[in-house]
Amino acid sequence: MDVGDPAANETRGLVCAHHHLYSALARGMPSPPRTPTSFREILELVWWRLDRALDLEMLEWSVKLAALEAIESGTTAIVDHHESPNAIEGSLDVIANACAEVGVRVSCSYGVTNRHGQEGAQRGLEENARFLASGGRGMVGVHAAFTCDPDTLVAASELAEKNEVGVHIHVAEGIDDIGAADRLRDLSRDNWLLVHGVHLRDDHGLSGYVVHNPRSNMNNSVGYAAPQRLGLPIALGTDGIGAAMLEEFRIAYARLREHDIMATPEVPWSWLETGYRLMPEAANDRVTWFDGPVDPWRLAFHTNLRPESVEVDGEFVLKEGAATRVDATEIRTKAGEQARRLFVKLENMD
Ligand SMILES: [Zn+2]
Repeated sequence: MDVGDPAANETRGLVCAHHHLYSALARGMPSPPRTPTSFREILELVWWRLDRALDLEMLEWSVKLAALEAIESGTTAIVDHHESPNAIEGSLDVIANACAEVGVRVSCSYGVTNRHGQEGAQRGLEENARFLASGGRGMVGVHAAFTCDPDTLVAASELAEKNEVGVHIHVAEGIDDIGAADRLRDLSRDNWLLVHGVHLRDDHGLSGYVVHNPRSNMNNSVGYAAPQRLGLPIALGTDGIGAAMLEEFRIAYARLREHDIMATPEVPWSWLETGYRLMPEAANDRVTWFDGPVDPWRLAFHTNLRPESVEVDGEFVLKEGAATRVDATEIRTKAGEQARRLFVKLENMD
């Protein structure tokens, strides 16, 4: 499936294959209690404090802001991975409804983990089960093998199998999760999303798609995944740093090129195209860009391309660069208010 039609300055809707819509309020958040010195500490001191602080009202406005920014970037479909351990029940509905209001397609999953005990893991599984049983579009989320008991991994894969969906899981992002392949080898299926894969061996033996998130990997100093060596289809995600997929494509190209001077932009462009295997409906969406042609060699070096209009399922959700279904100013204002609430909570957290 081609991404675009260069002659018409148009592409299909872009797909973000791994996002954390709950993280849109985190920008500018208070400093952690001390400076993280490793990837593990970035998780413990930043992200696992943020997810504990979230309530459903903060989540709603975080998702609306992130969904708005997605359509403003020509991204019409998002594969989301969510965690809010103190507000689990109903969280996937909040995400699905907020995206529907803005006009973005979303696949939801709740990241199951044993970080909050067996009961926390069970509640996460139940949220995935509840959402899928109610007809929600999604997958079964798992945080990562290294934060899950073996029974939890088996339960998640069985739940996915029962619902005929894949498991959406972080895999070998940092060295803490180096044992992921051994623990998941007998469970993984072709419809799984294996996010990151930085520390997987070439002969990992897993099935599924690899979702590459180059900027996040650089930001966390975990190393370069060099995803082509893994021998699986590759899709592109942002890991929660926005949903501007042309920007992620450019970063993916620059990082690939640093690794291999012979690499061409067609390679990361094909990673965008893999998104249509995950969210096929996005291929029916249309983005008209202010400038063309939308050729990979040109876009790899074009840092100022914005959508003029975005159509989802034949309906304009963005016209003349502005959202049509929601009030962008209101969303930014309300999201700002919720961000301030979140920051106060984080400052008062142990
Ligand atoms: Zn992630």
